Amino acid sequence: MIMEQLAGVGLRAANVDHLFVSHAHGDHSLGFPMLALNRLGASTALNVYAGSNTVTILQVFSTLAFSNLKPQEINLHWHGLPEGRPAKTALAPDVTLSTTAVLYPPGVPTLAGRWDFPDGSSVAFVTDSPPCDAAVALARGCDLLIHEASFSAVLQRGEDAAAHFHSTAQQAGEIARRAGCPRLALVHLGPAIGENPDVLIDEARAGTELEVIVPEDGERISVVDG
Ligand SMILES: [Zn+2]
Repeated sequence: MIMEQLAGVGLRAANVDHLFVSHAHGDHSLGFPMLALNRLGASTALNVYAGSNTVTILQVFSTLAFSNLKPQEINLHWHGLPEGRPAKTALAPDVTLSTTAVLYPPGVPTLAGRWDFPDGSSVAFVTDSPPCDAAVALARGCDLLIHEASFSAVLQRGEDAAAHFHSTAQQAGEIARRAGCPRLALVHLGPAIGENPDVLIDEARAGTELEVIVPEDGERISVVDG
């Protein structure tokens, strides 16, 4: 699937040299072996950024999937990030990745990420977590917040998203407003609610000025006005 998604935006695996993996659940990690496989022969290494526990699991995937290959053929550079405290990692001159742990189920440390770019723009990505103060602090002032909406408070009344370690679209909107983010992209939509993006957008906006979108896979989103 990841190869189809890349093809959809005109990219090949070799074009990707920085990868952030939030946590080890299969819907977030199982594309990794295919990406690595399709990069064989690429001129650059694939830099993988993930929490240290997640890195350990990705390394197991890699070992299982590529037992016949030498490490230098797969050409992965591992960047194990702290899971117990916020951290900043330089990705390139003036490009910083900030990470923090969100609320995660036992044994599955999950990181949210924020990228600050040289032009002053910034993007935060929060997934697989109920609302938490750590996500608000991470996303503070970002131009774009990409936040999960696995559940809908409108379409699934009475469903306790937090019991599943997830958020509703309404909660994603609240996080964006608390963090002062003008623009919110809802992703990771639950299967029961993904057919109703307009409902989710209204739910997240809650009558405020917040700009909310439900992007398609591969859609390019403007981070700054214009
Ligand atoms: Zn997930």
